[in-house]
Amino acid sequence: MLHFIDGQYVESANTFDNINPATEQTIGQVAHGGKEEVDLAVKAARKALHGEWKALTTRQRSDILRKIGDLILERKEELAMLESMDTGKPYALALEMDISRAAHNFYFFSDYLTSLGTESYQQDHVALHYSIRKPVGVVGMINPWNLPLLLLTWKLAPCLAAGNTAVMKPAEWTPMTATVLAQICLDAGVPPGVVNLVHGFGTDSAGSAIAEHPHIDAVTFTGETSTGTAIMKAAAPTLKKVSFELGGKNPNIIFADSDIDEVIETTVNSSFINQGEVCLCGSRIYVEESAYDLFLQKFIAATKQLKVGNPLEEDSFVGAIVSQEHYLKVMRYIDLAKEEGGTIETGGKRPDHLETGYFIEPTIVTGLSETSRCVNEEIFGPIVTVLPFSTEETVIAQANDTHYGLGATIWTNDLRRAHRVAQSIDAGIIWVNTWYLRDLRTPFGGMKQSGVGREGGSHSFEFYSELSNITIKM
Ligand code: NAD
Repeated sequence: MLHFIDGQYVESANTFDNINPATEQTIGQVAHGGKEEVDLAVKAARKALHGEWKALTTRQRSDILRKIGDLILERKEELAMLESMDTGKPYALALEMDISRAAHNFYFFSDYLTSLGTESYQQDHVALHYSIRKPVGVVGMINPWNLPLLLLTWKLAPCLAAGNTAVMKPAEWTPMTATVLAQICLDAGVPPGVVNLVHGFGTDSAGSAIAEHPHIDAVTFTGETSTGTAIMKAAAPTLKKVSFELGGKNPNIIFADSDIDEVIETTVNSSFINQGEVCLCGSRIYVEESAYDLFLQKFIAATKQLKVGNPLEEDSFVGAIVSQEHYLKVMRYIDLAKEEGGTIETGGKRPDHLETGYFIEPTIVTGLSETSRCVNEEIFGPIVTVLPFSTEETVIAQANDTHYGLGATIWTNDLRRAHRVAQSIDAGIIWVNTWYLRDLRTPFGGMKQSGVGREGGSHSFEFYSELSNITIKM
């Protein structure tokens, strides 16, 4: 995998291995970029801010975004295969979720762009005030490995819609789809230099070079909360605009009056889809005491049905964990759950039938205390904890007792309670009787240490553009 700078694929002196976590095989070499490559990319991106890209009309930019969406769909099988090989996720899931949503991100912002307005105020007979929208400039994009193309396009589509240029860095474990996307952008008519890509690691590598580069105007980052802190520090001397989508430890609150079969069907997904490697997964499950036994029995039975296996087999629901490093981290949490007095109700080990690959069975843990590390720390793997609760007040307090505030799910058929509890939870994204149902116009982001800012619809344009107010004295 090569860097993509100023419309060309570029090598580096050093490379690192790209490993397929489902086979443990090395599947390619990735150019290892750092300060030098980021600097070249920033120079190209600054130059491209002016000229051909700036001269495009809104309609022309909108058409280019639409074309990018079309080209992603034309190459969807290839992209899904690359995503599956990089991440270990099931191919069918990559096709259905990651790649189709990546195209949709471009379609959505292509449409949204054409209806954008700005403010204007007439101040009696004294003055007319109006604002105009300008691009922020060069935007650095630092991405995680769990939903590589989906999350990269969630940033790149509004970034381009607002007329900016980009320097992107995919996660080191998942470099492939971003590399293809750079070519797709060029093929769709994005001028050279507008979209640049540098591969590399985080600290003392391409990631930190983006965060600290003096000629990058804004940084959008999705990843761990602790990395957000490091990027904020590195970006502070040049006061870059930042947008952060960070970690979560999201409560899934189940009241006894909810429809238990519907709860089970969705909770299996919200616990284990994408190997539990989704920031919005509801990994802290709280069940009202009177429904606890029934829920647990049905949830364990449904989880045991999930097939863990080769990501290329259509019926595999759980694929491989993204890397050996992350696999070992998740396994350590399973040991910790036992040390903390938890009971492993199902899972808790690698599946016996798979000899290679970083696979872990979907795991349900009960019997932990509210203060245990497994209930409080983000594990980001196929592990959930289940705890009973007695009253609405206690579960709200438990749900909010965390420094995270990304998402929450509430299950109840009591309308008043649904509103009451939803409005009491400190999280940026709250679902009632559903999970992961998205409308891209809505604000997306986390409270507390789960994020800085919101993206989606008009919120994305707030980040990716600057407003200039002009006052004309009459
Ligand atoms: P990570 O923070 O380890 O890495 C993310 C990216 O940051 C990678 O590209 C990495 O190379 C880079 N990076 C690491 N250190 C850096 C530094 N010092 N300076 C600059 N860049 C640096 O996160 P991850 O393990 O790839 O992803 C998992 C995390 O992402 C989880 O915490 C998950 O909750 C979070 N996440 C959040 C959302 C959201 O929308 N809130 C979505 C997906 C994932």
